[in-house]
Amino acid sequence: MREKPILYIIIPCYNEEQVLPITAPMFLKKICDLENRGEISGESRILFVNDGSRDRTWDLIRQLAGEDRHYKGIAQSRNRGHQNAVLAGLMEAKGKADITISIDCDGQDDINAMDAMIEEYKGGAEVVYGVRSSRKTDTFFKRFTAESFYRLMNWMGAEVVFNHADYRLVSSKVLDAFSDFKEVNIFLRGMFPLVGFKSTSVYYERNERIAGESHYPLKKMLALAVDGITSLSIKPIRLITGMGILISILGIIAIIWAIVMQVTGHTVAGWASLICIVAFLGGIQLLSLGVLGEYIGKIYLETKARPRYIISERTDEITEE
Ligand code: UDP
Ligand code: MG
Repeated sequence: MREKPILYIIIPCYNEEQVLPITAPMFLKKICDLENRGEISGESRILFVNDGSRDRTWDLIRQLAGEDRHYKGIAQSRNRGHQNAVLAGLMEAKGKADITISIDCDGQDDINAMDAMIEEYKGGAEVVYGVRSSRKTDTFFKRFTAESFYRLMNWMGAEVVFNHADYRLVSSKVLDAFSDFKEVNIFLRGMFPLVGFKSTSVYYERNERIAGESHYPLKKMLALAVDGITSLSIKPIRLITGMGILISILGIIAIIWAIVMQVTGHTVAGWASLICIVAFLGGIQLLSLGVLGEYIGKIYLETKARPRYIISERTDEITEE
């Protein structure tokens, strides 16, 4: 590990002309402070990713890049969403940076938590998750929906760190392994736990947005949850199989019951056979759907062509410096 790692701060920006002039100098100050204290290399950069903004965001980023060597910017060809913007930034930093920290540009995530993150990295962690210690400034509704989001995700089989969004330190080692995940539907906070390596969390207070508006209303958050679940897990398919088994068992009970009723003569003509057919078909159909789903799930996971193993260390590794 290098004494003074090169840090890239990755900042996705979408229509942020109001907040960027306020937060950009805050990021600059942080990176200069870290540099002056000898924590990071002078090659460290702040990398803005313009996510197809319709306002003056890109002009501002270009202007900033002209003002200070620490500022860099890349622009996506169009708006692709927050996750893809962060991915673009990470891939841009790959090969250049020793560590990357992704953070939103609205000042909601405490910039000062970066110190602790870098410390954890120097202590041996390869991934450091920024976790919100409280959501006092969020409205009850936002807090409730956001926390339900994490619970739902975990219940549905997508492993995510509770209350961690995308404020995260990642080492170059992890980034290299991560770049072998070729999937198109990406849900970063659920993918890094899949990559593995030593990880830890740093806690911070989440503030209110400094300026501008949130781009994550409930509708987008639900879409993100659905996206996260379906791109990480095939548990919803398993639920169908489970339901199929349950309905099949109930169907068998219903059939026995119908036969008993028929034999004891408590029924009108045709009732028992009808019940038997309905119960039998209901169970079989759901079960068959589940079985088909299992195969589709397998195909789905195969098409992602994820790496089958990732090696984190080797005994014969030549240690740097
Ligand atoms: N963002 C982006 N592309 C989008 C939407 C958002 O790059 O399509 C960026 C945005 O500029 C911000 C971050 O993602 O830096 C988080 O967005 P926001 O603050 O609106 O979400 P919230 O914090 O309310 O969940
Ligand atoms: Mg925000």
